[in-house]
Amino acid sequence: MASKINDLSKLSVHTQTTRPWGIEECAKNYSEAGIHGITIWRNVLENKNLKDIKSLLDDYDMKVVSLCRGGFFPSVNTTQRESAIRDNLFAIEQAAALGAPSIVLVCGADSGQTLEKSREQIAEGIIRILSTAKSAGVKLAIEPLHPMYAGDRSAINTLKQANDMAEMINSSLVGVAIDVYHLWWDDMLKYEIIRCAAQNHLFNFHVCDWNVPTNDFLNDRGLMGDGCINIQEIRSWVEDTGFMGYNEVEIFSDKYWATDQKAYLEKIKHAYLTKT
Ligand code: ZN
Repeated sequence: MASKINDLSKLSVHTQTTRPWGIEECAKNYSEAGIHGITIWRNVLENKNLKDIKSLLDDYDMKVVSLCRGGFFPSVNTTQRESAIRDNLFAIEQAAALGAPSIVLVCGADSGQTLEKSREQIAEGIIRILSTAKSAGVKLAIEPLHPMYAGDRSAINTLKQANDMAEMINSSLVGVAIDVYHLWWDDMLKYEIIRCAAQNHLFNFHVCDWNVPTNDFLNDRGLMGDGCINIQEIRSWVEDTGFMGYNEVEIFSDKYWATDQKAYLEKIKHAYLTKT
């Protein structure tokens, strides 16, 4: 078993985790807290000059782990699908400008058609943007989402489906983002993690916890240790494959967003070091 690195060097925080903060506050406060990995959500980039953001991140010695998010490819409507392609091409530009090695794809679904049809359109969409991703040197990470989101957010709901698609597309730039929130319940998870890593498709690893009961299907994620996910075990499966990437804390939580974000960041560090 790989020995776990138990310091903050492999910790990244998603900007959405501390949603009340803009990108400037995220960079400054993460850095001052000793956290140097950042996963940037595109909402914090709106109306910003990417060169300025890049130099701000450099000033605070922040490493951009990934950009969230691209995807949302499927639609019954052609115009909608074309507009998704344009948005993904723009995301690639943003990722390249910020030095983000990957973009996480929340692949999308349209309840007006079958999941199979949505999956076809997801594969078509990824293939359409692949040459641009290649020239930019940006990887694309398919993130399977929990089946409760199959109606509208993603037709890819298991790691098996994500692995199948990445293997079918067969490019070193297309892989998978593993998020414990979406996948902890799957009895094939360990097997599929090993399969994913063996194909060099394991790009990103997201952590948080599953609250019991969960009061909101979007914004009631738990801090590691709050809920019932065997996070340490899943992390050990991931790291046993030789994965050397970051552990990205991605928590959407109305409860934590309402608290003091600096104190919350300290809680995140503590939960990362003791419960992750
Ligand atoms: Zn995630």
